[in-house]
Amino acid sequence: MKHRFVLAMGLLALSGGVLAEPAAQVQSEARQMLGALVGYRTVAGQGNVPAMARYLAGEFRKAGFSPEDIELVPSGETVGLLVRYRGAPGSKEAPIAFLAHMDVVDADPSEWTHDPWTLEEVDGRLHGRGVVDNKYGLLTLTQAFLRLRRRGFVPDRDLVLAFSGDEETGMASTRLLADRLRGAAFAVNSDAGGGYRPAGDGTPSYYIQAAEKTYATFELTARNKGGHSSAPRADNAIYQLSAALLRIAAHRFPVRWNAVSLAGLATTAGDLGDDPELAKAITDFVASPGHPASLRRMEQEEWLSRELRTTCVATMLQAGIVENALPTAARATINCRIFPGETIDDTRAALAQAAGDPALELTVVGDPVEGPMSPVPAALTVALERTLKIRLPGARVSPYMEAGATDGVAFRRAGIPTVGAGPLISTDGSDYNFHGIDESLPVSQFEQGLDHYYLFIQALAGATPEDDVE
Ligand SMILES: [Zn+2]
Repeated sequence: MKHRFVLAMGLLALSGGVLAEPAAQVQSEARQMLGALVGYRTVAGQGNVPAMARYLAGEFRKAGFSPEDIELVPSGETVGLLVRYRGAPGSKEAPIAFLAHMDVVDADPSEWTHDPWTLEEVDGRLHGRGVVDNKYGLLTLTQAFLRLRRRGFVPDRDLVLAFSGDEETGMASTRLLADRLRGAAFAVNSDAGGGYRPAGDGTPSYYIQAAEKTYATFELTARNKGGHSSAPRADNAIYQLSAALLRIAAHRFPVRWNAVSLAGLATTAGDLGDDPELAKAITDFVASPGHPASLRRMEQEEWLSRELRTTCVATMLQAGIVENALPTAARATINCRIFPGETIDDTRAALAQAAGDPALELTVVGDPVEGPMSPVPAALTVALERTLKIRLPGARVSPYMEAGATDGVAFRRAGIPTVGAGPLISTDGSDYNFHGIDESLPVSQFEQGLDHYYLFIQALAGATPEDDVE
């Protein structure tokens, strides 16, 4: 395994090798491509993902990928994209998949300082919808494949890019891709995981996403026979629902932990040099999970509290149809992020109990799936550490559990261990506001991440020890 790193280092040092591509050229090509990607408003229902996928397919063909190794996988109005980088002939190892999503959440130009669908640099930051989530991951994976291909790199096994087309909404395309890639050794997701470089001389860290909470949405409905608003009654669908929502707001799910969440917390404690008291509470919790005093301290921090349990929150309301009639129905949408090990049924039962009103209806929206945890493949950790020796020297690598939900869930359910290992290295106060208004990425971080997969892929699937030279 040492050989692989030597190779990557060797390539870095070779004037005629990897870095013969001047950084400025790599950056300008990447900037141009990010501009093109941001220009596609790849929002659910707009039918723009196929056009972006065709643009990407064209770029892969130009770099020498054969058309038969590039495939658009239709899924309703959107598509997934598969690009296979052929390994050396005779390679027997199972392929490795690399994930990103092509769709983005919508943005209202009237709310943005700059047009969300045009990449713009302002005060050292790149602005545009998707510059972080997840068109940056998509870009860095694409660029790595293009650059490696152009310089004739041959991986020791097949590598497959799997770009989904509806990660932000239904993940139907993701499930198709995951199904096609069954049997892959593991998958690396660009949409999760990443580094952190503290100010001063603190130890940097890199978080690998190895588990995700399950995403599930419920609808809570109060029904009523209605009537004229000139004759109000005590029974009222809006009041009945509101009272239940306040009880749900006050409900806290029980504290949970697992090996991944504890490892993530341990690393977090190490990053909290400026708050030794909180760091100690977390360390005590890791040493003795559930420790009451530590828990009380940790729960004062919302960002920590959600790492410790299932959370459910009301996100939408709908009630009544005219202003002068008593509402015949009032409905709230409640979005939950369920701790691994708890089921959707458990959560529904707990919510119903918290609502405290058996007359209310509580239904699951859509067809959510429960995500298992992933073991982190040793080869991946080794390759990542070697990449980080160049990108983020001295970094502590730690698995963590994601409170969000990504394409990784569908791949894990298809039996493919999936870990998030994204290209960005954030610093104190890095605020990308992805999904929000004015999503943006510092130019410096944009530039630093461009070599991430380029190095990582070489460390992961570079020359076999037999033909390696030291
Ligand atoms: Zn994303």
